[in-house]
Amino acid sequence: MELWQQMIRDSVHTVDQLVEKFNIDRKVAEDLDEFFQARINPYYLSLIKYPGDPIWKQCVPDKVELDDIDADEDPLMEDAMSPVPNITHRYPDRALFLVTSQCGLYCRFCTRKRKVGDYEKISMKGLESAFKYLEKHTEIRDVIMSGGDPLMLTDAMLEKIIERLRSIPHIEIIRIGTKMPCVLPQRITPQLCNMLKKYHPIYINTHFNHPWEITPESSKACTMLADVGIPVGNQMVLMKGVNDDPVIVKELMQKLLRIRVRPYYMYMADETKGANHFRTSIQTGLNIIENLRGHTSGLAIPHFVIDAPGGGGKIPILPNYVVHFDEEKIILRNFQKKIYSYQNYNDKNNPVKKNGTNGKNGKSKVKETVVTKIELPVLEEIEN
Ligand code: SF4
Repeated sequence: MELWQQMIRDSVHTVDQLVEKFNIDRKVAEDLDEFFQARINPYYLSLIKYPGDPIWKQCVPDKVELDDIDADEDPLMEDAMSPVPNITHRYPDRALFLVTSQCGLYCRFCTRKRKVGDYEKISMKGLESAFKYLEKHTEIRDVIMSGGDPLMLTDAMLEKIIERLRSIPHIEIIRIGTKMPCVLPQRITPQLCNMLKKYHPIYINTHFNHPWEITPESSKACTMLADVGIPVGNQMVLMKGVNDDPVIVKELMQKLLRIRVRPYYMYMADETKGANHFRTSIQTGLNIIENLRGHTSGLAIPHFVIDAPGGGGKIPILPNYVVHFDEEKIILRNFQKKIYSYQNYNDKNNPVKKNGTNGKNGKSKVKETVVTKIELPVLEEIEN
């Protein structure tokens, strides 16, 4: 048995352990266990500094989860968009492929609780029909392996799946969604890296939510993946009491870049059963982005998105930098709240010729302008 497998085995997961370790009332612990079981491996447990800290909140069951037990189990409608077991096909050229129900840690905010934990929640018997679907749908060029956590599979099982995907000519990109570099970095072994590098292009999206998760162990894991040519991106979920603070997020994003992980998404928390206590206001997220843009490297700024309830997919949101937009110009404000004007350009014919800012060669110049009267943004036009 490998070290990481031993650590899974040594995880806190029983009602007795929850009562003893975290002082949870036994009846509450039983109800929580029934709702969504716990799994806290010894590595992640060691990151907790005090009760209720940002690491604790992410992994220790809390009785408030039972308050919104009636909320939606599948707010993103992944199951409704599942043409065959184990596949969700929402976007034209991409498909989500669920390969296991197991994770190295069960996150209390998980949006896929209905699929995670018990082995039968995602059946390995569904793999064959999933492969058939992927083979038949030639428009799919990008497959995202997820679950659960695909790196809970053994190297041999994982390789079998990746090999089969690689045998499908129209699948250009394989992505693996895994939280292991963050929650159980011991899973990233030289053997795993050597296996994965045979199947490029492979991309990994991992999931750090707080700077305390960047440790010597997780740094080493991410560096090992980068060293075998795997671009690693990070998906952070914005959560009350965990990372709803611009200073914390900036520190996290900067630290991620240092360990060669590119911030990719910052999500608003989903409206998921048992996890609504993690939700923040949208303004909190906008403030965080406002505090990043211009104040640190663009590389450190994730796309801020809402995964739209009802299956609408990821929709980006930004602080409003557009003060006014019309055929002639766009008026913008920068990160210091200074106002600038950029002359528009007519793609079809001649440049718009106002204020002499468009040259004969059609190139427009950026010109700082003092705007005395700021007009309201015309949102319909901005969409175009
Ligand atoms: S690792 Fe991902 S799928 Fe597993 S419990 Fe955490 S959020 Fe859910």
